[in-house]
Amino acid sequence: MIIVLKDGIKKEQLILFKASLEERYDVTVNTWHGVGSTVLGLIGDTTTVDEDWVNAQEIVENVKRVQEPYKKANRKFHPDDTVIELPTGQKIGDGSLCIMAGPCSVESEEQINYVASRVKNAGAAFLRGGAFKPRTSPYSFQGLKSEGLDLLKGARKATGLPIVTEIMSSSHIDMFEGVDIIQVGARNMQNFELLKQLGKINKPILLKRGLANTIEEWIMSAEYIMAGGNDKVILCERGIRTYETATRNTLDLSAVPIIKKLSHLPVIVDPSHATGKSWLVEQMSLAAVAAGADGLMIEVHNDPKHALSDGAQSLTPDQFDVVAEKVFALKEAYDRIMKNDN
Ligand code: PEP
Ligand code: MN
Repeated sequence: MIIVLKDGIKKEQLILFKASLEERYDVTVNTWHGVGSTVLGLIGDTTTVDEDWVNAQEIVENVKRVQEPYKKANRKFHPDDTVIELPTGQKIGDGSLCIMAGPCSVESEEQINYVASRVKNAGAAFLRGGAFKPRTSPYSFQGLKSEGLDLLKGARKATGLPIVTEIMSSSHIDMFEGVDIIQVGARNMQNFELLKQLGKINKPILLKRGLANTIEEWIMSAEYIMAGGNDKVILCERGIRTYETATRNTLDLSAVPIIKKLSHLPVIVDPSHATGKSWLVEQMSLAAVAAGADGLMIEVHNDPKHALSDGAQSLTPDQFDVVAEKVFALKEAYDRIMKNDN
């Protein structure tokens, strides 16, 4: 339930009203302050809330029931875009284009440091790299695990690039202390116990869309993290399973504007896992910018042919230079066109 308050109400009136709502009903009240308006979002069992009583309160402008099962992630509860700002200064969701790039798997110190410096020079704001890898086969390379995390932290120190890496188990959370953004992979999107634990920490979470999940299920997973108190969630569209076999997955770019309509959370696109083919990454990156994405996650490897995972979809650093230049140029043109539109 959403309660829009009248303009110019006093702070004391707001405190009293919120307290009376929480006292009368089994709800918690979220407050959003915008320019000239205040919106209260009620979370909990709102079926017992007496709409007539709420409407009769002097400070209330109007009341709306919210149909969607997600509340904290809902744009109705938080009309502004969420901007995630890292202690190191990078912002995601502020209208800029944030690129996260790096290898699928961290393989060695030389590899990660070299790729980190190359993607940084090309304009990437974050270094990605998997240390714990969710592989389809138990016989495939599973990642360097804690050693991989240490190598990532070393590359962070050497280049200054903050790091993004995937967590597979809540028992590993302590190991992710020095990680800037924790990634939840597609296969764990509905690992609700993991999501609940990540809700208790104060670090941005990059939540990838599950292989066979609807947009609503995906937002509900973000809600799990937010319900625990962690509002810093970034959504990542990485393709879904369809009957199409020409690509590894089918990139659902319409998810970007749909998420933006339904939620205030930033959304980025991963064209590498979506297509599985390096030659498709450039065009799908450009298309993601045109769809309104807040950023891109792109796999880059020093030697894709010999990569221990996902070589076929990885760009070389030279190819990444070209893609990055084009996407930043398109982003400038896109911003110009959209500004003229308003
Ligand atoms: C990855 O980013 O390397 C990865 C495994 O991604 P996804 O969970 O989207 O398959
Ligand atoms: Mn990968």
